[in-house]
Amino acid sequence: MTATTSADQALVRELNLSLVLQYIHNEAPVSRAQIAHATGLNKSTVSSLVDELLKRKLIHETGTNSVGTGRPATLLEINPRAGGIIGAELGVDFIAIAMTDFTGNILWRQLTNVDPQDAQETALAKIITLVDMATRVCEEHDLDCLGLGLSVPGTVDLERGVLVFAPNLQWRNVPLKKIFSEHTGLKVYVENDANAAAIAEHLFGVARKSDDFIFVVVGIGIGGGLFLNGNLYRGKDGFAGEIGHTPIVAEPYQILCHCGKRGCWETYANQYSIIKRVQTRLHTKQESLISCLLEEQATSLSIAIIKQAADQGDQETLSSLAETGAALGLGFASLIDIFNPEKIILGGPLSILGKFLLPAIIETATSHSLSDTSPNAEILLSSFETDAVLLGAISVVVDDILSNPTHVERR
Ligand SMILES: [Zn+2]
Repeated sequence: MTATTSADQALVRELNLSLVLQYIHNEAPVSRAQIAHATGLNKSTVSSLVDELLKRKLIHETGTNSVGTGRPATLLEINPRAGGIIGAELGVDFIAIAMTDFTGNILWRQLTNVDPQDAQETALAKIITLVDMATRVCEEHDLDCLGLGLSVPGTVDLERGVLVFAPNLQWRNVPLKKIFSEHTGLKVYVENDANAAAIAEHLFGVARKSDDFIFVVVGIGIGGGLFLNGNLYRGKDGFAGEIGHTPIVAEPYQILCHCGKRGCWETYANQYSIIKRVQTRLHTKQESLISCLLEEQATSLSIAIIKQAADQGDQETLSSLAETGAALGLGFASLIDIFNPEKIILGGPLSILGKFLLPAIIETATSHSLSDTSPNAEILLSSFETDAVLLGAISVVVDDILSNPTHVERR
């Protein structure tokens, strides 16, 4: 046998292992016969592939299927205890971290607030402390750690694992993969926040069966994960989806964005824009529910306070949220016209206000996009709401293992 043939055979086997593993992930519990039928592989090949996946602890047997007259078939599913996965979401003003099993069940989590003005070293030191805690929790659960995923609010050089530019943090060229793999010895993945969330929705959430959808993360910034034709669309340099910085206003008095430009969509529809709208209304009204809440709780205006007022039906707050929803809807209309997606999914920090924003988003998106395309695009909230990006960091690791089952690195 020549070296080339044996390399080809190894590649074919890897592709087939991935095919079977992904089918089990999507359709479990399934029998070997079902896998053979669905993949077109013959039964003995499926048996051998399943044996290898069992040996690698990525799947396990889970009872039998006694439907029909034949011999009961053993069913297979993903093994939650295949290993632990650590995911960290680097937000603009917070760090969220979680440790999950291989099926994405959160076994441990922590949240720390950070000041976006903090030095980069301070923020990185906080993440390192949290990652160290997570690896200890992984050991306590007696799980091998299969990888660390980091999701970041900016553009990423995927191959080198470098955060290229995060406008709202003003971070440039941070070699996150190098820093964290040297510190932990783990396999490290760095991914843009919206892309990571899109992968989470596709693996575990509302987009499981969807090949064309867009995930929109809304917080201090706005980012998009473009999932097109069954794959993430990354663009020539890997930076596609920076939808928050598309200009939507072409007139004077444009708002300055953290990216240095003016008139970016996110400046009209992000977290700050809601706070600004509520503040403007506060200045023109003597008494309002918001000022009562601020006084009662001796705190400053925040999204949490705005949510409390909205939950109590405060008209002024609801109007501010409807205006923000309309500003979001304008951007959604562009996305519908450009990509004709099946779904647009809203997630990230502002999704806690999702039920108040969604009606205005849908109304504006529908009235501003071509009437032939807009009724086909479903606009909905993320399955994981504010956890979408955090689960995204986990999903990036799971996705890589599902695609390359023999390349798992256990620690
Ligand atoms: Zn911008």
